Amino acid sequence: MNKPVTLRDEELIAHSAGLLAPLAPMPHDAVSPPIFQTSLFTFERYSDLADVFAGRTQRYIYSRGDNPTVHELEALVAALEGAEAGRGFSSGTAAIAASIVPFVEAGDRIVAVENLYSDAFRFMEKILRKFGVIIDYVDGTDAGAVIEALPDAKIVYLESPTSMVFSVQDIGPIAEAAQKHGVISIIDNSWATPLYQKPISHGVDLVVHAASKYLGGHSDTVAGVVVGSKALVDRINHESYHYLGGKLSPFEAWLILRGMRTLPMRLERHMQAGLFLGEHLQNHPEVERVRHPAFVPHPGNATLSGYGGIFAFDVSDAIDVPRFVDSLHHIRIGVSWGGPESLVVPALAALELSPTTNSFRRFGVSPRTVRLAAGHEAPELLAADIDQALAAARK
Ligand SMILES: *Cc1c(COP(=O)(O)O)cnc(C)c1O
Repeated sequence: MNKPVTLRDEELIAHSAGLLAPLAPMPHDAVSPPIFQTSLFTFERYSDLADVFAGRTQRYIYSRGDNPTVHELEALVAALEGAEAGRGFSSGTAAIAASIVPFVEAGDRIVAVENLYSDAFRFMEKILRKFGVIIDYVDGTDAGAVIEALPDAKIVYLESPTSMVFSVQDIGPIAEAAQKHGVISIIDNSWATPLYQKPISHGVDLVVHAASKYLGGHSDTVAGVVVGSKALVDRINHESYHYLGGKLSPFEAWLILRGMRTLPMRLERHMQAGLFLGEHLQNHPEVERVRHPAFVPHPGNATLSGYGGIFAFDVSDAIDVPRFVDSLHHIRIGVSWGGPESLVVPALAALELSPTTNSFRRFGVSPRTVRLAAGHEAPELLAADIDQALAAARK
């Protein structure tokens, strides 16, 4: 895994500022694209407006629909994922919601993997269920179980690896079976990014991203993207995107594009830090389990050409979890991930929020699970910080 990022991807990113050049040449040959911070685009005459409304010509109309800066991001993520089309959103969660809604109605069934990103799970439980959609959760590590649940479902929803336990799915066989049964497959690819995993090349239909995380990479904005075939993205456009209204702002699209210029270098560093810390924790006497795909053999690892730098570990019962996180000096306590700073989230805190929802099982965690997002600090410094905090937290 020496060179997980392809030259083509590096070139796409390097030239992303020029992706739209045939449509809109860069003013003054600027190397960084302008931000089209405008809500609407005007028309010379009635016939221009009528042509656009009738679909005879294509033009920007209004930024809840299309905006050139947002389009630039959509085009770049679509190109990296090998998809025909993409759509930017105000958050990863907005992208997930808008990607599901067109394809289900009351009585329809979704097959989702267990231990999903918590708010994707809550979207299904709190909103889709209210409108009569049935959601079956299956163990995503068992491709046979997922495939068995597919007949008559409308969507199979994957996330590989999952958010708190980092368990992977064997996405190729699952996507192939979904195609056979006419089930639309959707995957959350935020962890690996299109640089380290290309689900469309394995037959997945739609790929969603929390661009807030690695794509943006600087903890300064919240955004989402979905990419897929033109036919499916058109359905999202016509049946949810415009009417749910979760559009991405031009400035935030620009921030994500700016962040993506350094994605290959940042990811490489996150990966190395995650591997270094995973190895370190694996050998620590007060750590019972490291939940990182690199340390857990599974056929689904084959579609990863690199690893994200966020994973989880379970401390032994000799460790007081709140005291452990309070004793960290460099690593901060915080949700989200993908920026330069290292962060921890103890599962215990999230579970205390919702003690009635059987969350331990739902999210697959134990009260001793701690999620660690490795940032760009020296990995040796982070390891030393963890060691001293574990020593301070012995009961
Ligand atoms: C953060 C996250 C999301 C949601 O993204 P937002 O931009 O916060 O809405 C979805 N999936 C995963 C894996 C995430 O980590």
